[in-house]
Amino acid sequence: MSEPTLFERIISREIPADILHEDDLSIAFNDINPQAPHHILVIPKKVIPRIGEAHDDDRKTLGHLLLVARKLAQDLGFSSTDQGFRLVINNGNDGGESVPHLHVHLLAGRQLKWPPG
Ligand code: AMP
Repeated sequence: MSEPTLFERIISREIPADILHEDDLSIAFNDINPQAPHHILVIPKKVIPRIGEAHDDDRKTLGHLLLVARKLAQDLGFSSTDQGFRLVINNGNDGGESVPHLHVHLLAGRQLKWPPG
């Protein structure tokens, strides 16, 4: 068996995190190094290392992550066109991935620039 990922250790409560949401498929918690006033990670409980390694039968889980992120954004008041938010998935080294457990970044609360660095 491989070592549990950092995020599996958050799911199991071995490592503390500021958990904002949990259900049977996912968990969401504040990023430890926030890049915006609100920076939340939404992750599947099932270990999918990255979106590039997701399978067709992960469809339900992947859709669920986006809907949880949308709900969190709405609950924080970022539901209008003006008060928007951004969802990001980094994949692999060039994509900026540092934790090999799929996660959707939810960023909100400031004007975000494009293109990203
Ligand atoms: P990525 O670079 O897309 O793989 O994103 C990984 C994210 O995990 C980064 O934004 C980190 O700040 C965040 N992170 C790393 N360790 C922790 C932790 N213990 N609790 C919460 N967020 C973390």
